[in-house]
Amino acid sequence: MSLDAITARIAQAAREAGRAPEEITLIAVSKKQPEERVLPVLEAGQRVFGENRVQEAQSRWGALAPRFAGTEIHIIGPLQTNKARAAMEMAHAIHSLDRMKLATTLARLAQETGRCPELFVQVNTGAEPQKAGVLPDEADGFVAECRRLDLPVVGLMCIPPAEEDPAPHFDLLREIAARNDLKGLSMGMSGDFETAIARGATHVRVGSAIFGARAS
Ligand SMILES: *Cc1c(COP(=O)(O)O)cnc(C)c1O
Repeated sequence: MSLDAITARIAQAAREAGRAPEEITLIAVSKKQPEERVLPVLEAGQRVFGENRVQEAQSRWGALAPRFAGTEIHIIGPLQTNKARAAMEMAHAIHSLDRMKLATTLARLAQETGRCPELFVQVNTGAEPQKAGVLPDEADGFVAECRRLDLPVVGLMCIPPAEEDPAPHFDLLREIAARNDLKGLSMGMSGDFETAIARGATHVRVGSAIFGARAS
């Protein structure tokens, strides 16, 4: 599967949902992919990339991003507070704001540095014990707390349970976003991005369908 094919499927899914393709940002998830797979995607014009580890993102993009103007890195994986400063320096957006301790750390750093990436609050829509994210019934309160801290929360993110139909999870995320007046919906991966677009996704995070299977 190539970048062009994914872009075409995104556009098709958007039109079928009565939406403009430009409403949807493709985040090409380059985590654990070798540079020889990432370079052609950059050369084909893709500029928004997702990484789930700050250190991996720094070592890859510190050298690569300056060569391709407009490159944006989105941190999509669990973020430790001791990596928050590095994440804030390099990231255009963080999709994994999932707990109060991280929120207060980001707020302190934002005050100190005068800037902050766009933030998505991760919601554990399936209430899975092993998964990160605030629980659905805690999301309103959490978003309110983040706003009190002046954090630039732009949307919500979810990773539905692997074995379930993702559609109800996407619907739940959209409902929580709507009642909190949040426009951004980071949802949909290689296996379900078209479903996510039909349910309102503004950001889809697609890895293996663009780059091929990851080395584990
Ligand atoms: C790895 C990852 C993706 C991409 O997964 P694919 O199935 O390869 O598209 C999306 N979102 C998150 C949070 C991830 O960790």
